[in-house]
Amino acid sequence: MTSASWPKTLEIPPDARRQWAILREALAVSEPPCASDAELWHSRNADDIEAASDACHGCHAFTACDSYATNANEATGVWAGRDRAAKQSKGKTA
Ligand code: SF4
Repeated sequence: MTSASWPKTLEIPPDARRQWAILREALAVSEPPCASDAELWHSRNADDIEAASDACHGCHAFTACDSYATNANEATGVWAGRDRAAKQSKGKTA
């Protein structure tokens, strides 16, 4: 997978379009770790989440990714080292 095609199915919320453009520029420089193993970044396995998070901390696009994911309210997967689904599940009751 190339950075130009990553991610393929994302819908960009209007409030996060500027941050998405900045992230796309960063991703065009070189492929981020998540581009070659999207399943790891969307796994719900604790070891996988930790591995994805660790890899994010070595990513050149970390700051742009965090800004985009925060502004877009991403609620699935690991973005910039943070499990974005965790905060969603904390508010749910069984
Ligand atoms: S910080 Fe993590 S989720 Fe964001 S582009 Fe880099 S590897 Fe992917």
